[in-house]
Amino acid sequence: MASRIGYGWDSHEFKSGVPLRIGGVALDYPKGLGGHSDGDVLLHAITDALLGAIAGPDIGTLFSPSDPQWKGADSALFLREALKRVAAAGFQVENADSTLILAAPKIGPHTPEIRARVAELLQIEPGRIGIKAKTPEGVGTENAAIAHAVVLLQPKSNKPPRKKRRKSTR
Ligand code: MG
Repeated sequence: MASRIGYGWDSHEFKSGVPLRIGGVALDYPKGLGGHSDGDVLLHAITDALLGAIAGPDIGTLFSPSDPQWKGADSALFLREALKRVAAAGFQVENADSTLILAAPKIGPHTPEIRARVAELLQIEPGRIGIKAKTPEGVGTENAAIAHAVVLLQPKSNKPPRKKRRKSTR
């Protein structure tokens, strides 16, 4: 079985009075991202990338925005379901890369924390997670946060379990 690539994209509008969550991390900012769930634009893009890589249904199909059970949902739940489907299809995540596009707040200082959280959710080392951020120069999307994500999947390794080392009989 060959490797697979997946791509995801998402955007959410900033709104006052909602908490800001990006990559599963709560950021201190007066506005958050609107949406039916917690509006975590990065986790949504990564979820769609995982689902895309296995030609699965997209995030909106699995977790309909019109379904009241997903109101205010923790987006980690969506990502976990996508990861479960990836595993069921016989794959594991090799690495993920992403770019956030937003005017504010500055993401740089939070990158290590976001990387660590996304790595934890994807069950891989932080060194396999790319988190990059840019401001929306000239594209007029100052009131939105946009995320692009790609993932690479490899067939699950079926290494035989390690043999126990024999205890010395001496
Ligand atoms: Mg979304």
